[in-house]
Amino acid sequence: MENQEVKPLILVTNDDGILAPGLRALVEVAQSIGEVIVVAPDSPQSGMGHAITIHKPLRLTPVRAFEVITAYECSGTPVDCVKLAINVISKNRPFDLCVSGINHGSNASINIIYSGTLSAAMEASLDGINSIGFSLLDYEFDADFQPAKPFVRRICEHRLQHNGDGANLLNVNIPTSPIKGIKLCRQGEARWVEEFQEGSDPRGKSYYWLTGRFDDSDKETDTDLYALEHGFISVVPSMHDLTHYTVMDQLKSIEI
Ligand code: MN
Repeated sequence: MENQEVKPLILVTNDDGILAPGLRALVEVAQSIGEVIVVAPDSPQSGMGHAITIHKPLRLTPVRAFEVITAYECSGTPVDCVKLAINVISKNRPFDLCVSGINHGSNASINIIYSGTLSAAMEASLDGINSIGFSLLDYEFDADFQPAKPFVRRICEHRLQHNGDGANLLNVNIPTSPIKGIKLCRQGEARWVEEFQEGSDPRGKSYYWLTGRFDDSDKETDTDLYALEHGFISVVPSMHDLTHYTVMDQLKSIEI
């Protein structure tokens, strides 16, 4: 007799697109834990944040990118992928976990607000689904995700075991090997100092290409930036509520 236990249903998505090796690594981990459905963008969508598609139709195409796993590529953004997964593909069975990534590149600190990886996870968390965004500090296409996999698995299993504890969105960043362990952190303060390289297109018109320098002024030891710098995986519990609660009292006088 086969094991009758119902496995957790896991949605896997990303922002680097269905062909990204980081997605494959995450699928392999998810597959060792539960039943997996993949819905990922058909093209790279890094930096799309929480963007949604509202002025054109969305396409959802079944693909055989992974053996024995239900997988779709979507013409939209990472958040579109999650919305379609929840409301169309698996509308009759809720997901037990949503994992996004593993992103090629850091989403620590301020990067979370631009990140399609984290926004996909956040979108699922709005529906009450335990959600995790995973990112590796290596932007290369052929980055080595192998050392991260046992840690990714441990974090996924932890969230499945503690479902309903309120921590339903985690931003997890992973240093390159050797990985020393896992630290619970706050989001470090940092900002991008923007620079635009100006150029001229073949028709003689100016264009601007965004480049930037990461300015991490926060030197405290409880941040994700500090943990990563010292070889630890950073786990930051996050939330969609951007209310600045600590200034509510000072602002009271704005009311009439
Ligand atoms: Mn990305």
